Amino acid sequence: MRCPFCTAQDTRVLDSRLTNEGDQVRRRRECIVCKERFTTFEAAELTLPRVVKRDGTREPFEEKKLRSGMLRALEKRPVSGDEIEAAIHRIKKELMSRGDREVTTHELGEKVMKELSVLDHVAYVRFASVYRSFQDVSEFTDMIKHLQKK
Ligand SMILES: [Zn+2]
Repeated sequence: MRCPFCTAQDTRVLDSRLTNEGDQVRRRRECIVCKERFTTFEAAELTLPRVVKRDGTREPFEEKKLRSGMLRALEKRPVSGDEIEAAIHRIKKELMSRGDREVTTHELGEKVMKELSVLDHVAYVRFASVYRSFQDVSEFTDMIKHLQKK
């Protein structure tokens, strides 16, 4: 890490710690040449947003959970592992490129449904029926009709 004051190459790390959110490392450095001190922050260039649940609590985004939800819907369906991984990758990429710090479970669910509607209609209906917990039968049949039109 180059010194921002004298551009010397060698700096010494005095202290290194995670920021409160835990997604950045804060380092206190001292230049070996001019003895000036400065702080650097290191973070992954792309971070996944935290997930806001229905009750307002937040939790870290977990790919594992996303995958298991999709796999449950896709059980015994003719969809390859590669296709599932590609769908998960698209969802993650979309979340990362948006750059928002938070995403609601609702938005996340909608993204999964969008992917499943392309991959497999049965899986889509399975996921939707659990996720949306339909208020009544007509809502459910409306969705089936909508799918059949596609
Ligand atoms: Zn310096």
